Amino acid sequence: MSGNLPSAARIVSITEENVRVKTLVLNARAQAQPGQFAMVWLPGADEKPFSIVDDHPLTFTIARVGPFTQQVHALNVGDRLWWRGPFGRGFEIVEGNGAHLLIGGGYGAAPLAFLARRLRAAGRQVIAIIGAKTKAELLLEARFAAMGCTVVVTTEDGSAGGRGLATDVARDVAHRERVATVYACGPEGMLAAVERLCAELHLPGQVSREGYMRCGLGVCGSCHHGPWLVCRDGPVFTVG
Ligand SMILES: Cc1cc2nc3c(=O)[nH]c(=O)nc-3n(C[C@H](O)[C@H](O)[C@H](O)COP(=O)(O)OP(=O)(O)OC[C@H]3O[C@@H](n4cnc5c(N)ncnc54)[C@H](O)[C@@H]3O)c2cc1C
Repeated sequence: MSGNLPSAARIVSITEENVRVKTLVLNARAQAQPGQFAMVWLPGADEKPFSIVDDHPLTFTIARVGPFTQQVHALNVGDRLWWRGPFGRGFEIVEGNGAHLLIGGGYGAAPLAFLARRLRAAGRQVIAIIGAKTKAELLLEARFAAMGCTVVVTTEDGSAGGRGLATDVARDVAHRERVATVYACGPEGMLAAVERLCAELHLPGQVSREGYMRCGLGVCGSCHHGPWLVCRDGPVFTVG
């Protein structure tokens, strides 16, 4: 466990998931709910929030987008990384008949992989829709398949799986299958479409939102989304 002060951990493995994304496994463990996040710190660089992809051992899946994530991507096995958390409100596993429909866009697949593991351990049926702009940006689909989830891949350019948006595929699945709950993580436009879908089909849903976070503790206010603070009141919010 970490808490409010950063703890040091060593990187025990690094997997290149795709051209921009690496999964780092640390020699640390947390007690986390899927959907919760940790603040990851490199002294002299910065501290940024990342979803927990597994808590035992602690695992992060990190896309290289700017200065901080470039420095994280330059680390090697054996190097140290600091973290504090877990923080925020995670996904609640909802009872109900039918499949649990997971919709991940981009690196939104990361927290959903942790959720899928918990759902499968509880014997639930999981359908995971993994969407990305192109085949090169698809993430973790093999991890979902290895857990026994039904995986549906979709890309905006049609380079892998069906061509189209993950939410359009989700609508088709929800018409065919009995769905208990929808869980989603991805870009804001996708989450807005998930909200509309849940309202249209009268399905309960939970979406994990991003926000620009500094403290992770509900103090600095930089991650507000309407009246809420993503770090304290989310990142998972109920919809539908
Ligand atoms: C709760 C939460 C969970 C997250 N989980 C993950 C994760 O599992 N894996 C992962 O790779 N990233 C995750 N992120 C995003 C990650 O924190 C940012 O990408 C990080 O700021 C990148 O730092 P940087 O210095 O490399 O890039 P920056 O210079 O901070 O950003 C580079 C580019 O990305 C954009 N950007 C940065 N942060 C965000 C954001 N929060 N929302 C929208 N655009 C943004 C900036 O506008 C800029 O264009 C998460 C964010 C939150 C709030």
